[in-house]
Amino acid sequence: AVSIRLSQCAKSFANGTRALQPLDLQIHPGETLVLLGPSGCGKTTTLRMIAGLEFPDEGGRVLFGEEDVTMLPIEKRGVGMVFQNYALFPNMSVGENIAYGMKIRKIAAGERAERVERLLEMVHLQGLSHRRVDQLSGGQKQRVALARALAMEPRVLLLDEPLTALDAKLREAVRSDLNKLLRSLGITAIYVTHDQGEAMALGDRIVVMERGKISQIGTPQEIYYHP
Ligand code: ADP
Ligand code: ADP
Repeated sequence: AVSIRLSQCAKSFANGTRALQPLDLQIHPGETLVLLGPSGCGKTTTLRMIAGLEFPDEGGRVLFGEEDVTMLPIEKRGVGMVFQNYALFPNMSVGENIAYGMKIRKIAAGERAERVERLLEMVHLQGLSHRRVDQLSGGQKQRVALARALAMEPRVLLLDEPLTALDAKLREAVRSDLNKLLRSLGITAIYVTHDQGEAMALGDRIVVMERGKISQIGTPQEIYYHP
């Protein structure tokens, strides 16, 4: 698993919004780091900078291990992403959605099929390869999105409010499975949420953000247990 380092990553947008103050952050190999904070505090901007969907202002650096990825676009970084709204292709089957990136990378059909089967098992959707995604529940859709993100064997998994669109019962089930999966994969993961319970349940460490700054960082116990 890869470590990630943000060094002096600030972000202002063209309209003058200062989304992030210069931010330093070290993410350990294989940990799940949660970015927690209220709407507008800069969580998604931070995640998008790690993904390569936004670039830090002059002087900011993003490193994956020893590699400076600051100017590399998303497809060169080896990141997988999962979003709140799934962003699946509605007219494709579950299998086609998961296989999409592999097909573009010209991974052979046999290998694709094997990986799709393995991924379906991993997210507990065995046997649903041929189902159209618009016939799935929200929880199942998010499992497909997760499988699709993992299909390209990313170095880093980025999750932006992946459970927010689900009702309470599904949220619980997907969260529990996601937790086990992140731990068994040992992949470096960054997880954005505004929900303290999710942060506590999923984070090895939690970064609390306020108005474009880190206000606290530590394990769930360090942050929430005050004897
Ligand atoms: P969070 O994910 O914590 O809700 P964001 O990172 O999305 O916060 O946003 C941080 C701040 O930057 C907010 O004030 C938001 O309105 C602003 N912002 C985000 N994206 C843009 C953009 N493309 N252009 C202008 N302002 C933006
Ligand atoms: P079908 O096999 O009926 O055409 P699928 O939903 O299985 O429909 O998806 C077919 C496409 O998606 C294939 O071209 C392949 O790229 C990929 N794919 C997804 N799952 C599988 C699978 N289990 N076996 C083979 N290809 C798969």
